[in-house]
Amino acid sequence: MIEGKSIFTRAVHAGERGPQPDFQPVSTPIYSTVGYVYASMEDLDRIFGNEREGFVYARYGSPTHSALESALVAVEGGEAALSFGSGMAAIHASLLAAGVKNGTSLVAAYDIYGATYSLGARLLPDMGVRVKFVDVTNLEELSKTLSETKPAALILETISNPLMKVADIPTICHMAHRAKAKVVVDNTFATPVLFQPLKHGADFSVHSTTKYIGGHGDVLGGAIITSKENRAVLHEIIKMTGGNLGAFEAWLTLRGLKTLPLRMRQHCQNALEVARWLEGHPRIARVNYPGLLSHPQHELAKKIFPPGFFGGMISFEIKDATKEKIFRFMEALELIIPATTLGDVYSLVLYPPMSSHRALRPEERAQVGISDQLVRLSVGIEEAAEIISDLEGALEKSRR
Ligand code: PLP
Repeated sequence: MIEGKSIFTRAVHAGERGPQPDFQPVSTPIYSTVGYVYASMEDLDRIFGNEREGFVYARYGSPTHSALESALVAVEGGEAALSFGSGMAAIHASLLAAGVKNGTSLVAAYDIYGATYSLGARLLPDMGVRVKFVDVTNLEELSKTLSETKPAALILETISNPLMKVADIPTICHMAHRAKAKVVVDNTFATPVLFQPLKHGADFSVHSTTKYIGGHGDVLGGAIITSKENRAVLHEIIKMTGGNLGAFEAWLTLRGLKTLPLRMRQHCQNALEVARWLEGHPRIARVNYPGLLSHPQHELAKKIFPPGFFGGMISFEIKDATKEKIFRFMEALELIIPATTLGDVYSLVLYPPMSSHRALRPEERAQVGISDQLVRLSVGIEEAAEIISDLEGALEKSRR
């Protein structure tokens, strides 16, 4: 095709679109292309018209994205998945697909990631959505709210950020469906290893894949796992709103997913050890971890999660600590990183009023139960004894 052409033409086209190889790469390649060509224009036309599967344009999907999406379905169940550029893009799209729009209502869990709270408390009301926050562990209150507000959707987290409350998703899905509400479950903290929301009745399972699924603190992303029908609606939404994941990010996320079960085993073992140690420390006023007997939903967690798996996230309150004391504690840590994220191989610590829940007004945080003494710890996959020794040293150094 390019033989005999000028250097300008050869430089542009040389090396591209060669014959189809007779091998398969072992790992899915990064499809760094925006467009796709087919032998016949009719094929392209049929793909645009959703009459056959295929790829036409990067915002509509790519083989790298499809590989990630089918891997997510393989580990979490459901029928189909769609990846997004961030967890928040996925949460926003799931609410739109669940029918949340001007004139409808949304019920949201009080104890939820800060940006999801802000979406419900600020952006959606500005767009004409009535939003009601509830404590989803209080089933009586939830049932009353559902029948009073008749929402289009209910959004909640399997294990809540930052108080680690565990939601009875199977019962809640029954209640919500009776009220004709779609259920959106943010399964980021639990991961598919602990819980599969669609198997228990949820309509949309949402993940910030930035966290455990990516797992290495190097890629921002989100995903929704749902039915084929809902995926088709989401696909139309992403085509219009464009919150897409990049191809390299899709590839990194797929790579992360391969070791998710191995990492979760270590995260959960470590977190249980660390939580038990923290609970016995004289400077710790309270520990929130579903694996502890003292946790209000410990029995529920045992029922809905695999044996010994209670997640890698802990939050705890340091007795009489001021913000300054908490900052000194965080600075005194040598192994655990005081950075704003979670679910990585590294142990990470965060002060919710400063970062994840900063967008909440102090009175909103107080209402949710996020005190100024609360610290959130994402337990990594290092050696548990070394994580504990770091916590011990920092608690001692920040005592005065
Ligand atoms: N859901 C939960 C539970 C989170 O903790 C976060 C972020 O911390 C998000 C969603 C948002 O994810 P992202 O930062 O990928 O947009």
